[in-house]
Amino acid sequence: MTHIIILMGPPGAGKGSVAQKLSAEKKLPHISTGSLLREEIAKGSELGEKVESIMQSGQLVDDATVIALLKERISQDDCKNGFILDGFPRTPPQAEALELMFHEMRKSDPLVLYIQVNEETVVKRISGRKECSGCGKIYHDSTMPPKKQGVCDDCEKPLIQRHDDIESVVRERFSVYQQKTAPLIAHYEQKGLLRSVNGNPMLPEVMDQVFKVLEQF
Ligand code: AMP
Repeated sequence: MTHIIILMGPPGAGKGSVAQKLSAEKKLPHISTGSLLREEIAKGSELGEKVESIMQSGQLVDDATVIALLKERISQDDCKNGFILDGFPRTPPQAEALELMFHEMRKSDPLVLYIQVNEETVVKRISGRKECSGCGKIYHDSTMPPKKQGVCDDCEKPLIQRHDDIESVVRERFSVYQQKTAPLIAHYEQKGLLRSVNGNPMLPEVMDQVFKVLEQF
């Protein structure tokens, strides 16, 4: 039995933070297509060069590119018992491609966890967000500060603000989410795979709801 969890919700809903906690608890890899793409940019690969300006503007990278990247990642050995998807699928063609991959790989149906938050929570949360430039661990200036300012607790690399975490780009990402990704909620609800949690409270409270949902699924 494989365990596949898809985290859905607008940018800043807390998908990355929830995925980190779930990954540690369930011993499943956390797969974030945003992080995979940022790694390509950091490496200076051809793919990284192609996607950099798209990501900085808050638009989506084309489906074929992200689908290929995801497919390559989930066929690796560490994914055989399951994985946690953060930031994929984001469009109906990506959801269709994922269903086909699951079918080909004989995977069972995923649990889709929808983290609901409003736009103002998102903007407030993202403007204080920092990410480790080494391991990608997420921090927040006021709600989740590191022990030593500006430095990751785990790997001691500097914390940085993502280029797409400035308010104007966050609002653009929210609008792209509403147009392109939100329709997937109804799709997974119809399939009976969707469970919702309220993502507005602080992380420990959100995690309590997540673990309750997992127990019942
Ligand atoms: P995230 O880290 O999930 O917020 O993603 C950051 C950016 O990476 C997004 O704003 C998109 O430009 C790009 N991206 C990440 N995942 C996807 C995806 N599944 N489809 C298209 N673009 C993506």
